[in-house]
Amino acid sequence: MTTVNTDDRTIFARRESEARSYCRSFPTVFTKATGALLSDGAGNDYIDFLAGCSSLNYGHNDPDMKQALIDYISADGVTHGLDMHTKAKAEFLGAFEEIILKPRGMDHKVMFMGPTGANAVEAALKLARKVTKRTNVITFTNGFHGVTLGALSATGNGYHRGGGGVSLPDVTRMPFDNYLKSGGDAADLLEAMLSDPSGGIDAPAAILLETVQGEGGLNAASAEWVRRVEQIARDNGALFIIDDIQAGVGRTGTFFSFEEMGVSPDLVTMAKSLSGYGLPFAAMLIKPEYDIFGPAEHNGTFRGNNHAFVTARVALEKYWSDGAFQKGINERADILEKRLEKVRSMLPGARLKGRGMMRGVDVGSGELASDICARCFENGLIIETSGAYDEVVKVLAPLNIDKALFERGLDILEEAVANCVQSTSIAAE
Ligand code: PLP
Repeated sequence: MTTVNTDDRTIFARRESEARSYCRSFPTVFTKATGALLSDGAGNDYIDFLAGCSSLNYGHNDPDMKQALIDYISADGVTHGLDMHTKAKAEFLGAFEEIILKPRGMDHKVMFMGPTGANAVEAALKLARKVTKRTNVITFTNGFHGVTLGALSATGNGYHRGGGGVSLPDVTRMPFDNYLKSGGDAADLLEAMLSDPSGGIDAPAAILLETVQGEGGLNAASAEWVRRVEQIARDNGALFIIDDIQAGVGRTGTFFSFEEMGVSPDLVTMAKSLSGYGLPFAAMLIKPEYDIFGPAEHNGTFRGNNHAFVTARVALEKYWSDGAFQKGINERADILEKRLEKVRSMLPGARLKGRGMMRGVDVGSGELASDICARCFENGLIIETSGAYDEVVKVLAPLNIDKALFERGLDILEEAVANCVQSTSIAAE
């Protein structure tokens, strides 16, 4: 085996593509991860408020998921089976039906595709276009849906769109809830333009949105706005799609981010924390009447990751069979709100953003946000930014993080903000 000196990071600069990103913010070599802690080769522990960008809602290496996976592998369970029937898939689907879909009155079918969020979004856009025989899709300012070309066309971020290298057609972008700083209702504008035959918007195949825009700066839509957008979709013969890739699987306090909003999306895209263990896994939920792709019409060699089926089933049984986990999320969300409110009050003009355990503070500039995150890292906290200018310091801690550890991480954040405030006022003197 090649031995690697974990203190030596030159291999990454020498051989890993310039496209690498998070590693630039957290310059160490990680060797271990448990729960909400990551450790590096030099023996430093870091509290993880990034959690695989919400792919690790149950923390790193959950012991029950790990044991189930070890048992499955030891027993020569099928690792790769294309989309053939496997016991692991049957057990996942059974648990998803009983624990998630039935109690929520959802009769959706589940489709698996290549194991990334972007692939789920590609599938959703293609399906909506096939169902309606229309091409145009309505998406929203600051929405992020992935970086493959179809998903990228639905994404607002100019840096990522610029990386596409081709035109990104067949999407009309409209203002998200509260986008218009002058006030004015973004749903009124959407409705008015769609109902005006000279409004200039081609009849939409779908309206696609995140209820909380994760990468776009933790903009949380109100339930009322989401309901209105759903109604506008219905009135215009468009499918209503919710991208729950980042906001789903408990992040906002309920399994689906939309389940207390009184809406019934036709398609739901899921990925990130669906496997529970950080394994690649994506799915789309489809109302049965729209389940019209032919066999393998949207396929993918790695659709349906059996190891992810195993861990996802354990995650559902362990965390979602009763209300205890959800209660714990809401308790942590209360702690988070209180602590972030304090951080907000330390910075003139700062704003609290997001919902549930998907919250952050808009500190006013990307420069300040990045300074805060760098100071946090020096003191043992991994935390990142989001937003059009990377101006939002964003907390995505595991949903079951030990409360004392959570408070410790929030102490580090608060200290970093206090130090930034102090050094800026010293600099201003
Ligand atoms: N949709 C949303 C809401 C996301 O936050 C992301 C990723 O951050 C994606 C889609 C794309 O997922 P992936 O990076 O797995 O392709």
